[in-house]
Amino acid sequence: MSAPPPTLPISETFTSIQGEGKLAGVPSHFIRVSGCNLRCAWCDTPYASWNPDGGLRAVTDLIAGAKASGVRHVVLTGGEPMIFAPIEPLAAGLRDAGLHITIETAGTVHRTIACDLMSISPKLANSTPAAGDPRDPHGTWRRQHEERRINVGALQALLDDHPQRQLKFVVRADALTPDLAEIDALLTRLRGWSPEDVLLMPEGVSPPTPGNRQDVAAACVARGWRFCPRLHIEIYGNVRGT
Ligand code: SF4
Repeated sequence: MSAPPPTLPISETFTSIQGEGKLAGVPSHFIRVSGCNLRCAWCDTPYASWNPDGGLRAVTDLIAGAKASGVRHVVLTGGEPMIFAPIEPLAAGLRDAGLHITIETAGTVHRTIACDLMSISPKLANSTPAAGDPRDPHGTWRRQHEERRINVGALQALLDDHPQRQLKFVVRADALTPDLAEIDALLTRLRGWSPEDVLLMPEGVSPPTPGNRQDVAAACVARGWRFCPRLHIEIYGNVRGT
């Protein structure tokens, strides 16, 4: 008996512009998987993590949708796309269709996969749910998140596999010092990255104050890193499907 065709839990697909990272501003088709192995306190897509919605879609259907979108760049995002094995045939099919693939991942899981830009966003301590978070009444996710959020072996393997990559850190613009110390410590444990691969993105779906943005920009200038805006928020607001 032949295996059933691969499927993925999908929260949404849409075509917009990439708002973040080295390809900010590029028209892109987004495929957002539903489900994540982390629970960031400030997650801006809770419908793909804390309360995953959507249903199973066939990989062939997702490839057809990307081809029909009329844009060349496809972003596989989530949730956490790398926890789902069928992400591999999806990426392979998109590659066969001549499309450019970005994968957005927290970097806790490694798998060998076709990808043109591996966008890795390691989660800092600022992401861990607080004790007493009403979404996590027994603290189960708080513990699991803290155990899982940094996997140096997976991060290194992703860097080794993908010469086109970025390391995108969500930082608290109003409490930058501990975040920078944590990033500096993590980067000393990783090999082969370049300063231009490192991006700082202020946390929050409303723009930080100009002064806070300037602090983040100053840290980027001092280290040769990049400031990462959220163009889609600036253009559309914090609206789903954009
Ligand atoms: S890793 Fe991403 S999708 Fe998962 S909880 Fe954190 S911000 Fe949300």
